[in-house]
Amino acid sequence: MSKHDYQSLRSKMKPESLAMSYGYNPAFSEGAVKCPIYQTSTFVFRTAEEGKEFFEVALGKRQPDPDREAGLIYSRINNPDIEILEDRLTLWDEADDAAVFESGMAAISTAVLAFVSPGDLILHSDPLYGGTDYLFKSILARFGVQSLGVLPGESREAIRQKILLSGRQDRLAAVFVETPANPTNHLIDIQMLVSLAAEFRTPERSVPVLVDNTFLGPLFQRPLVLGADLVIYSATKYLGGHSDVIAGACLGRGALIQEIKKMRTYLGTGAGPWTGWLLMRSLETLSLRMSRQAETAKIIAARLAQHPKVAKVYYPGLYQDGDPQIEIYRRQCLGPGAMISFDVMGGEAEAFRVLNRLKLIKLAVSLGGTESLAEHPKTMTHAGVDEELKRSLGISDQMIRLSVGVEDPDDLWMDLGDALGLLEGSEPSV
Ligand SMILES: *Cc1c(COP(=O)(O)O)cnc(C)c1O
Repeated sequence: MSKHDYQSLRSKMKPESLAMSYGYNPAFSEGAVKCPIYQTSTFVFRTAEEGKEFFEVALGKRQPDPDREAGLIYSRINNPDIEILEDRLTLWDEADDAAVFESGMAAISTAVLAFVSPGDLILHSDPLYGGTDYLFKSILARFGVQSLGVLPGESREAIRQKILLSGRQDRLAAVFVETPANPTNHLIDIQMLVSLAAEFRTPERSVPVLVDNTFLGPLFQRPLVLGADLVIYSATKYLGGHSDVIAGACLGRGALIQEIKKMRTYLGTGAGPWTGWLLMRSLETLSLRMSRQAETAKIIAARLAQHPKVAKVYYPGLYQDGDPQIEIYRRQCLGPGAMISFDVMGGEAEAFRVLNRLKLIKLAVSLGGTESLAEHPKTMTHAGVDEELKRSLGISDQMIRLSVGVEDPDDLWMDLGDALGLLEGSEPSV
């Protein structure tokens, strides 16, 4: 199949139908129905002229021929397992192109470094994933890049004033959004930040909006459709989905991804063929896994909300009419996902007792895998976050974060109920 055939399939069929075959031609691999692992560091050119042409395309000196696959040179630049995976990843988010990385942090750091210079300003939502927080506030700060945080619920005008007060309004280089916020599931209005970024755009500065879509994407949130410029994933989470691979991805318009791929080539942050192969296998079941996980999470969240030992549940599926969050939810989310946080009655001791009693649900950080995981954000994933910020965000001693897997919902509830105490018998209670 040519690139044109793929394009026409893409406009007719759904991502879950194409996830098994899109972008792969069995004729190139002895008819193998599955894409093999191209475990090779370098590729043979048929002629010296061809090698010259491939390098001209890779260096941006010549436009690639749209009817031909890009020439393979060296696996830090490109590799079939990575290129086919990148094509498949674009399906859900309706992106032109994608770049895959050896970790989510590699995707974030490479994408951001493609757009910022000393003296620039990055606007970002708070709280951020711990690694991103450290990258912005400690590492980029050393290179003279200032970061400015926005709390959930801050109005567009308040954010605008903050940017003006920073004194670097003419140096705003990127807007970085993580929504839903981890671990409270607060939603940040992507469209509001997209239109705010446009106000600061000049012919020289494109002020791209980057959205870390790890928690809901790509099934339940499509930031590119909402006007964002780039979507970032820790593919370690739902995309990988089995807690057995560390990887990342960045998707968006072709020209922006080309810039990011160039940075990836020079930083050397790209993923290898084995990671590409594992993620291709994972994408085949992405829709099945994420849909089932979200269905189970809805059941668990509703039962937690009724439980006498639970003080509060943070889950987008539980927002009520009248809550400003539900307006954002209706505009930007296609489903509530499978990450639930909840406060137990009591404090750290009670939260730890629940975590220590869990049997089926494993006590571990990370998320998005087939197995359910629970952790204590305040002392684990968010241990490095400023104490005052944690208090203002509601990341309390009594909070537990749960990543719901693909297990039977009643079995998960039995485990949680036993750990929380007060569950009568072994009958699942509704
Ligand atoms: C895990 C995670 C990251 C970092 O990804 P790695 O694959 O661990 O490098 C970034 N953002 C979010 C929201 C995450 O959950």
